[in-house]
Amino acid sequence: MRKSSIQHTLALLVATFMFALTAVANGKFVLVIDPGHGGKDAGAIGKVAKEKTINLNVALAFGRMVESGCPGVKVVYTRKSDKFVTLQERAAIANRNHADLFISIHTNAVARGRNVVGTETYTLGIARADENLEVAKRENSVITYEDDYQERYEGFDPNSPESYIIFEFMQDRFMEQSVELARLIQSQYSAHAGRQNKGVKQAGFLVLRETSMPSVLTELGFISSPAEERFLNSKQGQEKLARSLYNGFVKYYKQQSKGGSPVVRQPAPVAETVQPEQPEASAPVQPVELAKPAKQASVKPVFKVQILVSDRKLSAKDARLKGLKNVAYYRDGKQYKYTCGSSSSFQEMQQLRKQLSKRFKGCFVVAFEGDRRVDLDEARRRAK
Ligand SMILES: [Zn+2]
Repeated sequence: MRKSSIQHTLALLVATFMFALTAVANGKFVLVIDPGHGGKDAGAIGKVAKEKTINLNVALAFGRMVESGCPGVKVVYTRKSDKFVTLQERAAIANRNHADLFISIHTNAVARGRNVVGTETYTLGIARADENLEVAKRENSVITYEDDYQERYEGFDPNSPESYIIFEFMQDRFMEQSVELARLIQSQYSAHAGRQNKGVKQAGFLVLRETSMPSVLTELGFISSPAEERFLNSKQGQEKLARSLYNGFVKYYKQQSKGGSPVVRQPAPVAETVQPEQPEASAPVQPVELAKPAKQASVKPVFKVQILVSDRKLSAKDARLKGLKNVAYYRDGKQYKYTCGSSSSFQEMQQLRKQLSKRFKGCFVVAFEGDRRVDLDEARRRAK
């Protein structure tokens, strides 16, 4: 009798414990680490080192520290080897994994002859200084490695200042958290790695725009400065930078775990973290799956002109929408994308686009089937 009662209690305890374990596993904090560039895109190039390799080494070392130091955190990488990943895919990986935080790791550069050193960490926003815009232009220009980037990024031209106007309308709702993390990382770069702190900044980074969670893009230092390149390319330097990221992350992670105090222990020493650069694996070429034609031929595509993007729903009285007819919006990640006009004729919307482009620089025609945004060329073919 007594024995069975103990057994019963034990079984109950075990069940409770298992349940708690499962709850912890399911409730893991998801950190996405994004080593910038890779494969055919080397990023900034120094005298001896390449940005893509520095970014990857620091990212892997940082990730390993988190894996060993923070059992409550699941680390997801956008790449773990020297391969090319599009900006859109990097953000999609974070969104698919329901990430709680996205950290993109990069290395800075300026034109030859200028000696600039130091670290800076960016959050999404409008560049307040030309030099910040220059960093965003350089990092965003990686999309030109993608064949169909104009369509994929909706006419975004990384080198045209006009393309950046769209960021003026964006007030990221994760801004506060992102800035806090950026601040923590920046202070660790100086405290732990002895780097010059160039501060927390804002600029229009596409990769941050597409993610739906607090996110930062950090620049580890300037590969264009010979002295800083030596540091960035050394094992010791990479380890110090990784540790700075780790320390900054841990402080943020503790702050965010309101009420509970997450388990954080000393991470395992990063002994052999720096892996030699591996050539891009020649993956078998996957056939591109073409969008299947809609089952009902009756669903005709509708064309609209996309005019602006906002992080929140705009009031109908919003000055930016004043005098416009037929305004609508659709959701895309953390953004509300606003359109004007609606017609089954592409030509008609092209006309409207011309009229609107004086007011909304860089506006463009988009296509829908029902509520779903669809490929423009495909829609035009189907509309004929
Ligand atoms: Zn970069």
